[in-house]
Amino acid sequence: MADTHDTINCPACGTKMKKIFIPKTGFSVDICLDGCGGIFFDNREFQYFDEPDEVLDEMIVQMESKPYLVKPKQDAVRVCPACGSNMVKNHTSVNGNIIVDDCYNCGGKFLDHCELTRIRDEYDTEKERSEAAVRALLYSPEGAELGLSTKSGKVNEKMDKINKSLFGKIVNKMMDK
Ligand SMILES: [Zn+2]
Ligand SMILES: [Zn+2]
Repeated sequence: MADTHDTINCPACGTKMKKIFIPKTGFSVDICLDGCGGIFFDNREFQYFDEPDEVLDEMIVQMESKPYLVKPKQDAVRVCPACGSNMVKNHTSVNGNIIVDDCYNCGGKFLDHCELTRIRDEYDTEKERSEAAVRALLYSPEGAELGLSTKSGKVNEKMDKINKSLFGKIVNKMMDK
C-alpha cells in the first residue's frame, strides 16, 4: 500500500495538499488548504487516541480560517491519491447528507470541506450536529468494522468510541461552532 509521505494532489480539485503531522499518532493528515478544503485520511488514521491534541486543534483552526475558493468537482469519479484506485462515493448519513469518497483498495477516505459545512448548516444544536456526525460513521466501513449497526441497540455505547477516533474528532471539532 502506498503511504502518503509524499505530497499528494487533492482528488477533488487537483491542488497540492498540505500535510499536517500529528506527532502523537505518527501520521499526517492531508488537507487541501490551498484549494477546496477537502481532507484525505489514509487507512491508519482512524486509530484511536483519547486525549486532546493541540496539533489537531491547530489544524482545525487553520482549516476553518480560510476561504476555499476552489470548487471541487462533485460528479467526477475521484482517484485515490494514495494508491491510484477509483474511489466510491458513499452517502453516509441517515438522510444521505454526507458524501464521503472511500477507497476500497487501501482504505483511504476523502471528505469534502463543503460536506462538513453542509451538516453544520442543517443541524441547529451542538448535540444534533454531533449525533449527525456519529450517524455518518455508523454507515461507514469503519462503523461496520467496529461491529456497529443501528439495529444493534449498542449504538450509544459505541458512540463514545467513534467520537474518539481521529475521523470522529475532526468531524465533531469542525462542527463545534
Ligand atoms: Zn481540493
Ligand atoms: Zn487507495
